[in-house]
Amino acid sequence: TQTVKPLIAGNWKMNGLSASRAELDALARGVAEATAGRVDMAVCPPATLVATAADALRGSGIATGGQDCHTAASGAHTGDISAEMLADAGANMVIVGHSERRADHGEDDACVRAKAEAAWRAGLVAILCVGETEAERKAGTALEVVGKQLAGSVPDRADAERLIVAYEPVWAIGTGLTPTAEDVAEMHASLRAGLVERFGAAGEGIRLLYGGSVKPGNAEELMSVANVNGALVGGASLKAADFLAIAAAT
Ligand code: PEP
Repeated sequence: TQTVKPLIAGNWKMNGLSASRAELDALARGVAEATAGRVDMAVCPPATLVATAADALRGSGIATGGQDCHTAASGAHTGDISAEMLADAGANMVIVGHSERRADHGEDDACVRAKAEAAWRAGLVAILCVGETEAERKAGTALEVVGKQLAGSVPDRADAERLIVAYEPVWAIGTGLTPTAEDVAEMHASLRAGLVERFGAAGEGIRLLYGGSVKPGNAEELMSVANVNGALVGGASLKAADFLAIAAAT
């Protein structure tokens, strides 16, 4: 196995106004001390703030990402945003297949796969999310469900330069609940095996993030689990101090 530099990525969801520039500036000021270069960081604000974030974070080493993209580069898709537009606004990355998109907008694996391909077409890194529901976890089908999502959502020719996979159990998102370290280890080992089976050595270097109620207080334990190469952080990414504390604990 290779050593993979961890990534702490923040998903602001539908939060943030122009005043959030202050949090972005605080992140840019604090990142060097918090990470000492050991950890990469990224912020995925709402689309209205992508250009602001890219500007505030320029030179800090913190990447900027979108939270979703359309599969097409442009066209008659009112309200949608393309990967090319995110790149044009200064984004380096985009989240695809977040469970809130899968649930609220009916995005299936084929759709998520097409979005990841759109991200690559525009030169963006895709942060591709997978994760089981509470019912699936209780039924004992979590590994199977997530394995199917991985197989169906990840495009061919994935590598560490273009793909990051985030395991986000739906029942752990925004709930304060987290899986045990053993359950995270089991899932991440299974995801790693799936990537290596399909992509060979390239699959070893693809970062596997854990997401779901990561906070400063639980980051150290979760981030030390085998095959966990960072976190996708929702609520605790909104305050620069908390987000930097998670990176410092990684
Ligand atoms: C997320 O939605 O990506 C997430 C991990 O949210 P939270 O950290 O708030 O659980």
